[in-house]
This record gives sequence, C-alpha cells and structure tokens, in this order.
Amino acid sequence: MTDATANSDAFRTDRRNPDGTVLRATTPAQWFGDDAPLADERWLFIVPHDDDAILGAGLLLQYAHHQGIATRILIATDGHQGYTRIEDRAHIADIRRAETRAALAALIPDAPSPDVHWLNFPDGRLRHFAGRFAAPAADANADADADAHNAFAYEVVAGHTGLANACTFHLRRFAPTRVFCCTGADLHPDHRALHEEILISLFHAQGSIWPELGAPLSHAPTAVEMAVYCPFPALPQLRLVASPQALARKLDAISAWASQTQIATLVQTVREGGPEEYFRVVDFPAYRPQMYRAHFTP
Ligand SMILES: [Zn+2]
Repeated sequence: MTDATANSDAFRTDRRNPDGTVLRATTPAQWFGDDAPLADERWLFIVPHDDDAILGAGLLLQYAHHQGIATRILIATDGHQGYTRIEDRAHIADIRRAETRAALAALIPDAPSPDVHWLNFPDGRLRHFAGRFAAPAADANADADADAHNAFAYEVVAGHTGLANACTFHLRRFAPTRVFCCTGADLHPDHRALHEEILISLFHAQGSIWPELGAPLSHAPTAVEMAVYCPFPALPQLRLVASPQALARKLDAISAWASQTQIATLVQTVREGGPEEYFRVVDFPAYRPQMYRAHFTP
C-alpha cells in the first residue's frame, strides 16, 4: 500500500465522458463516476480461465493493491483442457493451479496471499453449465474421461450448481462494488458463456430469489468488461496507464504459465501493447415504453 502521491505517480486513470472529454481521475470512485468511499471498494474478478484476469487486468490488479482495495479472483474452469504437451494431460489442472499462484506472486510480490478461488467447472464446456440446477449425485459428478485429468469437483452450494448459482452466491458473499468480467464479444465460447451468466447473476444477487445463497446485495455493483483476445464490443470508457515496472511485473506473471508453450507469443503481444489497459462499464438501461414514443410522434 502506498500514499496518494505515490499512487498518482505510478498509475493514471482516465475516464472518457459521453461528450468526448477525458477526465483524469484522482480516485477509483471518480474513475467509475460515482462517490463510493475508497474504504468501501471491493473488486471481484470472475474469469473463465486462470490467466484471463492477469491478461486483461494485470495492471489493474496492481492498481487495486496500491489503493488498498480488497480483491478476489474467481476462476470458473478447472483448466483441464489447457495442455500443450501430452505428458501434462493427466495433471494439467494441478500444474496450472500452481502456475496461477506463481503468476499472482510475481504480479504483486508484497501481497500476503492472493484471494483466488476456483469454481472448477469443466474447461471448454462452460456453456453446458449455464443457469442453476440441482447438483447431480456424487457418483454422477464425473466425466467419462475423468481418468485422463483431474476428476471434476465443481462447486455445489445449497445442493445446487451451475454458473448462475455460483455467481449469485459469490456476488452476495463478497458484496463487491465492482465486478470485472471478460467481454462477451470474445471468440472463446467459455468467455461468452460466463459473460452472460455474470450479467444475469448481478440481477439475481440484488433480488430475493434463491434465499439459501445469501442475503440480497444492498447495492448495485458496477459491471466492468475487460478485453483479453478480441476487442471490446463498444468503446471502453476507462483507461489505466501504469509504469514500465508494472508492465514488467505483468509480463513476469504471464510467463509463469510455463505449461502453456504458446505463452511467448502472448507475452510479446502484451509487451507491444505497453503499460496500459482499457475497461468498459456496462450499463443496463431498463425498458420503458416511453423510450420509443418519439419514434411514432410525427
Ligand atoms: Zn480465457
């Protein structure tokens, strides 16, 4: 944690307003355009795969740490399909879990222990775990090729499972002020599926549905998209500019996924991008019939 002067030296946060002006924000609240006290900020990252949070927000995670903001990373998949060498196939989930912890340690060396949690849904099949449903019996909670990788032990809460169950539960439990997700415009089906589930879970978490998953949120978290492989579906409003040292830590962190033999290409792409990241706040305008009245008014 550092003081405000050091923060402003190490990180610059810009907000592009609808009128095209760009505001240099001095606090996270100003950046997001509200008045949340810094002490109340809690940032939840819900990502499909272990490397998505650092690829999309490796600088932002460092900024959050410098601001003293409580952060938690939820990783939806177990990563079992992410092997690039046949000899890793049986243990890739364990290998990637260790690499993830090493990556977070490289990203923020002075963090006591990163708050990271795996939901363990099967990698590459998130779309089949949309919604919420009663958890199958324990002996059915296994995959046909379970002996080829770590057997699934996806998260069950209150006898139910599914991405909406997990997201609603964790949103209520962590009560974030901001929720970060990968855009739904990505080509990767896991990214698309999780994006959809997070957005609907934001509504569930604020309502009274499924009371066994916790008390409804008393506030609406800001939904924020980060881009990983494909561009944003619409212009991002937020930019974070960090120091070359912060970019170096992000690159070191990404390099920790040594099992991903294609990682050098990704590192090169991130290096060329420089020490900046962009984020898009997602608005949910509620439908009102009067929105369309003018279209039918001569
Ligand atoms: Zn991913």
